[in-house]
Amino acid sequence: MAEAQQDWNAMPDEDFRQIFRTWADANCPAELRFMRKQRPLYEEVKVWYQALADKGWLSPLWPQEYGGMGLNPAKHMIYVEEWARLGCPRIPDHGIGLTGPLLLHYGSEEQKQFFLPKILSGEHIWCQGYSEPGSGSDLASMRTTAVRDGDDYIINGQKIWTTLAHCANWILLLVRTDKEAAKPQQGISVLLAPLDLPGVTVRPIPNLREEADFCEVFFDNVRVPVSALVGEENKGWTLAKTVLSHERIFLGAPTRPEYALARLQALAEARGAFSDPAFVSRFAKLRLDVYDLGSAFERFARVLRQGGELGADVSVLKLFNTELYQRITEEMLEILGEEARFNDDIEAGDIGIDAMNLYLDSRAPAIFGGSNEIQRNILAKAVLRLPG
Ligand SMILES: Cc1cc2nc3c(=O)[nH]c(=O)nc-3n(C[C@H](O)[C@H](O)[C@H](O)COP(=O)(O)OP(=O)(O)OC[C@H]3O[C@@H](n4cnc5c(N)ncnc54)[C@H](O)[C@@H]3O)c2cc1C
Repeated sequence: MAEAQQDWNAMPDEDFRQIFRTWADANCPAELRFMRKQRPLYEEVKVWYQALADKGWLSPLWPQEYGGMGLNPAKHMIYVEEWARLGCPRIPDHGIGLTGPLLLHYGSEEQKQFFLPKILSGEHIWCQGYSEPGSGSDLASMRTTAVRDGDDYIINGQKIWTTLAHCANWILLLVRTDKEAAKPQQGISVLLAPLDLPGVTVRPIPNLREEADFCEVFFDNVRVPVSALVGEENKGWTLAKTVLSHERIFLGAPTRPEYALARLQALAEARGAFSDPAFVSRFAKLRLDVYDLGSAFERFARVLRQGGELGADVSVLKLFNTELYQRITEEMLEILGEEARFNDDIEAGDIGIDAMNLYLDSRAPAIFGGSNEIQRNILAKAVLRLPG
């Protein structure tokens, strides 16, 4: 049972920071800090998930009446910063960050009462079924259908790159409910479906590290009741996009580049790379870029703190962040050459550095959350006003 909440937003920022940091430091087990895996399974981080749930600190943004902390953007930034600073692991968070906010905005009272407590308790672990083969950047072209049959929908089709579907028990699905709509964005709906229904097949896809962190999910005549629909039929596109938009800034948080730069420095010291003036020059540039990224992130965060809305220019943050992260990890491989291998910690002073895994990890953020090419298109059209 979660503890009673207080009005965190009325508290001075530094007091809140201190309270959250002290508690998280005492309650997040040391062996879960700075995990190699970016997306651990629920079972691997259950202790941390449950500690947050018991404290009532699992859902920083949900209103307190639904079991959240009700944090404003400023306090949320502090929560995220301290989480990252302590190296606490990511938890399976599609329920907290995606399904929960979607239901809070658009769900019926019945859906809120049924689903929200089960997300908070860890009983329901969610995954996000948006992308399909051939429909990633061009998501509106998706083809998985849901056809009304009496009081049910019958779902047929395939989703892909569904992160953590193999440890989830529910999926948030985008489906096509009207094939005749004038535009592809029309005729899409949002459905909630358990993954243990007859006709659902979840097939993990091993990544280059030979870990499965995403899956293919197949639907073969899967029946769900019409009560699985969120919001209005055929209006799902707007729902899905609204909920994702507020998360864009967090894809630009400087945490990963900062973490990688500290490891590059340790590696360079251990291998004597600082005796090479060319390396020193490249390292200085990377360090300055990390500082710049921090300043840029702070500028966007300040807009949110002051209650403002982010514009399309926030795309620049994601671009700068993900490409900088890649440049830092590439520099690690330059130092190590053939020594860099999968799942192999390289000794550097008193720490082990998993350079190859960091390098591979740095490829993914340039693809998910809207690929970098798509971010460039957004900047070209909405910020620079270049012709289409
Ligand atoms: C680690 C990871 C986790 C993910 N988890 C999930 C998940 O949980 N649920 C989910 O639904 N999806 C998930 N995805 C899928 C992700 O949303 C898609 O990979 C992404 O939207 C890109 O789509 P795509 O892979 O089909 O590539 P495509 O859209 O086919 O793009 C291929 C290439 O073409 C470029 N391109 C495409 N269109 C344009 C254009 N108009 N202009 C210029 N260049 C273009 C792209 O930038 C890319 O380089 C995940 C992806 C990754 C990498």
